[in-house]
Formats: sequence, structure tokens, C-alpha cells
Amino acid sequence: MRYRNNAPRHTLLALALLAAIAYAALHRPAHDPEGRGGGQPAEAPSPDHALFAENLRKPVEAALQDRYRDIDARHFAGALPDIPVHWEERLSERGKDLPSGMGLEGLWLMEDGKALILVNPRLREDEAALTRTLCHEMAHEYLFTRGDSRSSHGPPFQAVLRRLWDEKAFTGLFATDEERAELRAWLDQRKADLAQSEEAVGLARRAVDEAEGEFSALNSRIQTANERGEGWPSQEEMDRTTARRDLRVTQYNGLIESRNGAIGEFNLKAERYNLILAYPDGRDEERVAAMKDAPEPGP
Ligand SMILES: [Zn+2]
Repeated sequence: MRYRNNAPRHTLLALALLAAIAYAALHRPAHDPEGRGGGQPAEAPSPDHALFAENLRKPVEAALQDRYRDIDARHFAGALPDIPVHWEERLSERGKDLPSGMGLEGLWLMEDGKALILVNPRLREDEAALTRTLCHEMAHEYLFTRGDSRSSHGPPFQAVLRRLWDEKAFTGLFATDEERAELRAWLDQRKADLAQSEEAVGLARRAVDEAEGEFSALNSRIQTANERGEGWPSQEEMDRTTARRDLRVTQYNGLIESRNGAIGEFNLKAERYNLILAYPDGRDEERVAAMKDAPEPGP
């Protein structure tokens, strides 16, 4: 029965869907809610004084510092000051109240005219996230060197990131709020469609089971007739029962196929949405939270 073979395939796709959801939860964007917004003067003492002071005394790790320099050379014409970049475990504790529960990925700090960048060590394992995070924090540094200490994640910051994205400095998807909202609406709609198609699949499955029951009852009768040498069902009944079962299996398979196609398409778009989530514009927590209610895979 071909339809039985579809079950594992469905499971795989369902897993892919779960993976997409997990991706949304795991791939938190760079974030630094250090409160530079709200027009705070850059000279104000940072609430992260301890982090700042301790890291300022540490020697830099060459490999990480080289990443900063590389991005600076490629995308800022080497014009950024060579501020220290450090791995900082404690970023995991900072921002733990964020929906991901995984803390901050990066932080740009400024105190007494000195700046540094802190990066969460879990990004050691995630090249793309490290690059995105560095780009995000370097955009802060760039704006600061241009005398802009007030824009936080506002339009000037967005413009720098957009340029970096255009230059392929980091992977991720740039999207306007409208594009993002459109995609979100599509996902919500498709989620509803998928729930409906699950119902249709359930009905079709029951129809298959029913036809299977008739088919095996017919087989029993044939077997009994074989033993007795009489009482066989008519050829017409055998043909009809077989045809009905085959038709229902075909219908079921068709539904499964289109449903799986829809799940695959949903996963692709969800992945795209997640990449937008990962776009390091510093306003992402709400979006990660928004994906929490992505559709459940079917049975
Ligand atoms: Zn930021």
C-alpha cells in the first residue's frame, strides 16, 4: 500500500517544520538593549561598568579581533578605530528575560570615550551569527564615530545595516516592515489552511480504512469460498471493491502529497521569515515570540 509509505515522509517534513520553529527560537539576533536610545548622551556612565572595565583590561583574542578588522577593511574602508572585541560569557545572563532565554549575542559598550564590543561565546559555533552580530555592533561603532550617539537602532542604524547587507557583509534577509508583515500574514493564512488540510487528510484516511476493511472482508470470503469450493463473490463485486479501495488510496495519496508540498512551502517561507528574524536590527525579540505559535505538524 503506497499510502503507508507516505507516513515516514510526512514525519520527516513534520520534523523539518519543528526544526524551523526551533531555528526561530535558537537563532536570536544580535541584541544590545543597552538603552542608548531615548537620547542618552554617550558620555553617561554605562550600567555595564563592570563588564566594560574588566574587558578593557583583557588582552584580545587575535582571531576574533581579526574578524573585526576584516569587516572593517571590507565594509568601512578600514576607517573604524581598532576597538577591542572580546568573548563575554556573561552576555548569556544578560537578557535572559528575553523570549529566547538565551541572552544577548552582542553588546557595544562606550565609556569615557572608549568603546568595546562583547560577543557571546556561543557564537563560536555559528559563523553566520557571529558575522551578523559583529556587523550589528560595528554599525553602532560606525555611527558613534560619525558623531551620532543618539540613533540607537533607528533609521540611520538601519541604513548602515542595509548597506552592509547590500554588500553581503552578512547573511540574512533584509525586509521592510511591510514585506515582513506580508510574509507573516501568509504564514498565518497557510497555518490555517494546513489545519484544514489535516482535517481533509483525516477524513480521507478514514475512507481508506473503510475501503480496506471491505477489501479484506472480501478476501476472507474468497478464502472461505476457496476452502469450501463454492460461494465466491461475483467478479463484479471483486472489481468494485478493489476499484473503490484503489480510488480512495489514490485520493488519500493525492491529499498527502499536496499537504506535504504545502508544509514544504511553509517551511521554506518560515525559514525566510526566520532569517528576517535573524536580521540584526535589534528589534527582534517580539518577532521571535511571534513564531511561537507556528502550526503543529499533523499526526
Ligand atoms: Zn544594537
